Amino acid sequence: MRCGACCCNPDENRAEGFPYYVEVEDPRSRLLSREDLKKRYVVLDPEGMPHLRLDPSGRCAALRGKLGGNVSCAIYADRPRGCRKVEAGSPRCLQARRERGIDPPSVR
Ligand code: SF4
Ligand code: SF4
Repeated sequence: MRCGACCCNPDENRAEGFPYYVEVEDPRSRLLSREDLKKRYVVLDPEGMPHLRLDPSGRCAALRGKLGGNVSCAIYADRPRGCRKVEAGSPRCLQARRERGIDPPSVR
């Protein structure tokens, strides 16, 4: 909710031309079982593995709001496991913020 940088394709993926980011692992998740959610937010990679759909700028299709400001996730309750791992202030968070040009967060 704080900035959304970790909801964007990381530079490493972009450099490799890889347009997929978070995998949707759980076949029983609502994201995969509800056709409307699947159509809007999920895309298959060339191996057929489901991933979160990204827009052309590399943002997750479920990210709402202005990057770096107040953002929210349109599928928060149904977000995949990978989305739940990043903690604010962690090395991965700070790297994502750096890559998207956002100042480090103030960590309590
Ligand atoms: S599903 Fe939500 S938490 Fe996960 S990358 Fe997309 S916007 Fe971020
Ligand atoms: S975990 Fe870090 S990069 Fe992700 S939204 Fe929070 S502050 Fe931004």
